[in-house]
Amino acid sequence: MSDEEVPVLIVGGSLVGLTTAMLLGHHGVASLSAERHAGTAIHPRAGHFQLGTTELLRQLGLEERVREKSLETYSATGGIIAVESLAGRELATYVKELNEGVEGFSPTVRVFINQDALEPLLRERALELGATLRNRAEAVALEQDDEGVTVTLRDLDSGDERDVRARYVVAADGNRSPMRGRLGIGMLGHKELSRSITIYFRADCAELLRDRNQGVIYVHNPELRGFFRLDRTGGTGFLVINTVGADVTEDSAIDVQSGLTEERAFQYLRTAIGTDMPMEIVDVANWRAEATCAERLREGRVFLVGDAAHVVPPNGGFGGNMGVQDARNLAWKLAAVVKGEAGPALLDTYEAERLPLCVQNVQQAYTRYATRVVPERGVEGVEPAIPDIELEIGLVMRSPAIASEEPDDGLLHQHPSASAGRPGTRAPHVVLANGRSTLDLFGSQFVVLRPAGDGVDDWAPPGAVSHVIDAEPFAEAYGLSPGGATLVRPDSVIAWRSRGPAAREEIARALAKALALDSNGARQAAGGGPT
Ligand SMILES: Cc1cc2nc3c(=O)[nH]c(=O)nc-3n(C[C@H](O)[C@H](O)[C@H](O)COP(=O)(O)OP(=O)(O)OC[C@H]3O[C@@H](n4cnc5c(N)ncnc54)[C@H](O)[C@@H]3O)c2cc1C
Repeated sequence: MSDEEVPVLIVGGSLVGLTTAMLLGHHGVASLSAERHAGTAIHPRAGHFQLGTTELLRQLGLEERVREKSLETYSATGGIIAVESLAGRELATYVKELNEGVEGFSPTVRVFINQDALEPLLRERALELGATLRNRAEAVALEQDDEGVTVTLRDLDSGDERDVRARYVVAADGNRSPMRGRLGIGMLGHKELSRSITIYFRADCAELLRDRNQGVIYVHNPELRGFFRLDRTGGTGFLVINTVGADVTEDSAIDVQSGLTEERAFQYLRTAIGTDMPMEIVDVANWRAEATCAERLREGRVFLVGDAAHVVPPNGGFGGNMGVQDARNLAWKLAAVVKGEAGPALLDTYEAERLPLCVQNVQQAYTRYATRVVPERGVEGVEPAIPDIELEIGLVMRSPAIASEEPDDGLLHQHPSASAGRPGTRAPHVVLANGRSTLDLFGSQFVVLRPAGDGVDDWAPPGAVSHVIDAEPFAEAYGLSPGGATLVRPDSVIAWRSRGPAAREEIARALAKALALDSNGARQAAGGGPT
């Protein structure tokens, strides 16, 4: 007998666990998150949040709160450059301005906000949406059978243990993921790029920043490679160091941790700043840069999300953002299955849709590490860089729940102006007559969209809502002719479209397929695991 029952248990209550909790609450499903720490993140870590993430935060009613919080620390228009040192020469510009090229493709913008400032907002919203969050609770055992999963949670204050029974478990327990270890799921890729450190410090660098209003500043000099993230005052921030020494092809260059003394940490900081000045080291964190992806994202009723599923170097800001998209893909599917609205086979599509994209993003993070931090090591085995916007809102997914159009070109990414309403991609942003975005119509349920015109059939099958859109560019942006229709999922992904006139039965069949129901509404059993 278990002590407690819940539809979904989330192990880990940091960035991705909290996002999953918010989303399940948003979709009306109860969840319990167990987090062994007493509170949310204590270090800034993630800072660069991509369009996929900010669009989701907008749908969850957090856009304004996050933007205001971001402006307390960062400018809205920072970029990414490389310097010899803050006082020294500028070497390269990787991103001129954070939101360059974004306008017209999204109703929102990328933001810089530190993870320790963001997480309390996610936590607050998850609670507003009905999630249960339990801190100082560590998952210490897991067993699953055909009906559900039993997880033993230890109260880290009292030492008491209790069993929680859940239909499904989401493992959001970070890069060392004890859950992944228990399930025996291996990681593939580049296992140790460097034993890096992050020095959190205070020093008045405002003068050295001059008019450089930068979000991320890479440092390249004969003593070290890494990057700064400084707040807008230039007085506080952190320095990541990935390699030390002039010859980064030497193995010893990638071990920044061994033999690190306080004196040496100050020396690194002085070198990266490029001049001596009063400075205070607040903390030093050791971490391993790697570029790896789990070989599977699911074992039975347990799903891996976030750093439990993939670990990347911070270059390009992929780690947390990828995890948020895992949660976005999975949460509505779990909710639909738990509520009996979808067949359990829908849960098989999480891995089918996300794994190829996760592998691609891991490779892209590796590309940015290789080209920005250790270019001397060469480009053998390094994939060419894909433009950020394609990795954020131009990804192409495939699964039995998506009616991909034939012939399939096999692309995994495309510029949003080229994908133009293609099934498997994020639905395009079009400004509506009321000034809102098409993206504001999605997030909670399936939506049928049709271009306005004579005799248009404003109809959606039960379980979906319908909108007729008369904004001028809509039909072209979605690739529809008069009478056509498109079906958009709660995660804003296009499940199906009919370019030309679509009959009601056809739309009903498309919805059934997108929910893994057979054409008369029966739920399809899962192929890969228990239902
Ligand atoms: C210097 C640096 C800069 C970065 N910059 C960016 C960036 O700009 N953009 C970006 O997107 N990402 C960035 N990242 C990566 C980002 O921080 C991570 O990808 C993100 O934190 C992953 O979130 P998560 O919730 O999956 O895992 P984590 O944040 O690691 O959280 C896992 C949680 O699970 C808990 N836990 C573990 N085991 C158990 C258990 N058995 N029981 C209960 N709880 C458990 C842990 O206590 C922890 O709180 C950066 C990382 C670093 C180090």
